[in-house]
Amino acid sequence: MNLIEAGKRIYEKGLVVGASGNISCKLDEGRILITAAGTCLGNLIDGDLVVVNIKGKVVKGHKNPSSEMRMHLKIYKAYRNIKAVVHTHSPYASAYAYLAKELKSVNPESEMLLGEVPVASYFPHGTMKLAEAVCETIKERNAVLMEKHGIVAIGKNIAQAEELAELVEETAKINYLVEMLAGKS
Ligand SMILES: [Zn+2]
Repeated sequence: MNLIEAGKRIYEKGLVVGASGNISCKLDEGRILITAAGTCLGNLIDGDLVVVNIKGKVVKGHKNPSSEMRMHLKIYKAYRNIKAVVHTHSPYASAYAYLAKELKSVNPESEMLLGEVPVASYFPHGTMKLAEAVCETIKERNAVLMEKHGIVAIGKNIAQAEELAELVEETAKINYLVEMLAGKS
């Protein structure tokens, strides 16, 4: 799976709408391929992808990189084995993120792959503070909620990060249903 295929799947699964969300993968130790600002993940073309170096300087491509580039770079710098980052505003998970309420693991898959999904404290989008908060919170986890914002999932390749982003949303949905049903019993 490449970034274009991953973006299409993320969009088709309803994890993003319009130009929200951004994804990236590590090409080698010094270079990251990331979606450009303002692009729709559902119909990416090669020109919507930008190669940046680890300092965030564009080395290939004509568009500006995603406004959340700092967060992607911070994660790659901190965790050498991570090769892909997916950021979405998927609705159920974003609702929990809005409330700064962590997700409980609800089935063997979410228990094994996610554990409890913690919340990174709110900082304005695109800032280094947000990048630091997400990077710190995701330590030893595969995904985090970003307070009042969305989610981040990471992986050893883009297929894995994309699957985890799907799993976070499903886990949030089940958390919600469990709370609703429990509240009514
Ligand atoms: Zn966002």
